[in-house]
Amino acid sequence: MSKRSARASLLFLARYSLGSAALQPVVGTASARSTSGVCLDMTPKPKSVWTAADEKQAKEARSKLDVWPLDEYNAALLNQVHPIDYESSQPPHEIYDLIALGAGAGGLVSSKQAARRGAKSAMISEYLAGGDCLNVGCVPSKALIRAARAIREVRGSSEFGVVIPPGAITVDFGAIMKRMREKRADIAPADGHEGTTGAGAQVFQGRGRFTGPNTIEVNGVTLQFRKAVVATGGRPAIPNVPGLKEAPYTTNEILFNLETLPPRMVILGAGVIALEMAQTFATFGSDVTVIQRSERLFQSKGGDKEAAQILQASLEEDGVTFVTGSTKKVTTLRPRGEGPDDFPLLKVTVSGKDGDIDLDCECLVVATGRVANVEDLGLEQAGVEYELGKGVIVNDLSQSVSNADVYAVGDCVAGVPRLTHMSGEMAKVVVQNSLFEDDWKLSSLVVPAVMYTEPEYATVGIFAEDAASKAGVEVDVYSASLEHNDRAITDSDTRGLCKILCKAGTDEIVGATIVASRAGELINEVTLAMKHGIGLSGIGRNIHSYPTTGEAVMGCGLQFINSRWKRLDG
Ligand SMILES: Cc1cc2nc3c(=O)[nH]c(=O)nc-3n(C[C@H](O)[C@H](O)[C@H](O)COP(=O)(O)OP(=O)(O)OC[C@H]3O[C@@H](n4cnc5c(N)ncnc54)[C@H](O)[C@@H]3O)c2cc1C
Repeated sequence: MSKRSARASLLFLARYSLGSAALQPVVGTASARSTSGVCLDMTPKPKSVWTAADEKQAKEARSKLDVWPLDEYNAALLNQVHPIDYESSQPPHEIYDLIALGAGAGGLVSSKQAARRGAKSAMISEYLAGGDCLNVGCVPSKALIRAARAIREVRGSSEFGVVIPPGAITVDFGAIMKRMREKRADIAPADGHEGTTGAGAQVFQGRGRFTGPNTIEVNGVTLQFRKAVVATGGRPAIPNVPGLKEAPYTTNEILFNLETLPPRMVILGAGVIALEMAQTFATFGSDVTVIQRSERLFQSKGGDKEAAQILQASLEEDGVTFVTGSTKKVTTLRPRGEGPDDFPLLKVTVSGKDGDIDLDCECLVVATGRVANVEDLGLEQAGVEYELGKGVIVNDLSQSVSNADVYAVGDCVAGVPRLTHMSGEMAKVVVQNSLFEDDWKLSSLVVPAVMYTEPEYATVGIFAEDAASKAGVEVDVYSASLEHNDRAITDSDTRGLCKILCKAGTDEIVGATIVASRAGELINEVTLAMKHGIGLSGIGRNIHSYPTTGEAVMGCGLQFINSRWKRLDG
């Protein structure tokens, strides 16, 4: 055991028993003598916990962790994902089989799965375990999206015979945000430190940095590893717009702390995060404007034109305004105040094709893409190659191209889809490859992506003709609209389509776009077919329950089959 880790072990011994109840502080003995003869202070120390309405803690949670208000739900969240003064209950191992640097989906899955498969495993968490997804991404956004759906359903319910007196529907934004915090706290234990240690991995709370090709330092302790996984995630990209950096703008990192609905919201960017939040906040009652650079949605990504039109029209129906142009400058007319209602006032100047447009707002959301967290991690000391903004450079095994003992997963990796399920799947790939010398390839993964607007927009593989021509793949397109889908008709929601692309002249599926109320569920069938080499005719021959919107997927299969029917008259 190295000198450093021996010292750290004593520290852990002093505070905790090493028995089976790993998280139980030692109680009863005032002092004890360790085997090395050092006198250890064994006085039980009261364990601090985050407590709702504790003003000092509330200030700390806000200033250090960007979390507020400190109500019972946020206190419960923090007690799971960033306990106060957290210290591991176990002495560090002399050498770890695997250490995950980062505690989002990628770090959690890597460290827990490694431990469950018998490895000496650790996870280092600087900030909030659960990463973006739990704290400031998927979970809070989907909870708000659900609330918006409920509001839309109630507003549109007169068609179904529900009688609501005029002016009777009001939206309680405070209650919506409280429900979101409650749901997030409900999910938190799955990502909390207790869950991770329960799986057998050790947790270190602090910033980790590589100090060499096989060492990481955290809280002054050097940990040695056979394999490490960089899982440090990403953060919002802030474009270089004059006045923006000094302005009180908002990103996903603080948006979910809002306690009062902003009267006017301007969103820079028209990607997934931007559009999900645009529709949601417009439904809540904000006056929302989205600034997009391209003439149509998803143009730069080669997205489907028809899908883009349906989605833009749906968002406009819900009150979102789209402005096309580039953002010229941001002017702060009034700074942010102290209270939840004290919104700042900003002016955003957009240069459009007919001249400048000024947009005033109380909330400016920047959602113009993401950059990888690769700075100040000691990657240079570890000899791990990376590209600023883009991320760690890995090979098809998710392994660093320059240090074979270091792997990387998730949003901190260059050139992979930035999605929770991608981070999780990459983590499984890494555990398998790094600990069991396998060769599971990233190129074998088929990764669907969903935008949870209403209707949803789901894609997989080469999802549109533009994308196919960019990739140099010749395709045939099979398409079914929801206009003639009986379930969509009885639901009064016929906006949508399913397009499946096959390699020209064959039924080999290369990708799909689905726009439908639950497109996120429907795309899984196409993903499964692609992953397991089931052709489009196989989907057409798969009996789908009637009436379901999934019949649109089968409809594309039937088109393929019918186009090859033998005919008596032909
Ligand atoms: C608003 C929003 C909505 C989203 N919705 C969805 C969705 O619906 N579905 C979906 O699939 N994806 C969604 N995403 C994307 C998803 O959140 C990310 O792809 C996912 O969180 C990436 O996981 P990760 O583990 O790679 O990184 P992260 O979640 O970013 O986790 C990285 C972790 O590493 C820690 N860390 C960083 N540096 C260090 C260090 N030096 N030492 C110790 N710890 C460190 C960080 O504190 C953090 O906990 C959304 C994202 C946003 C912003």
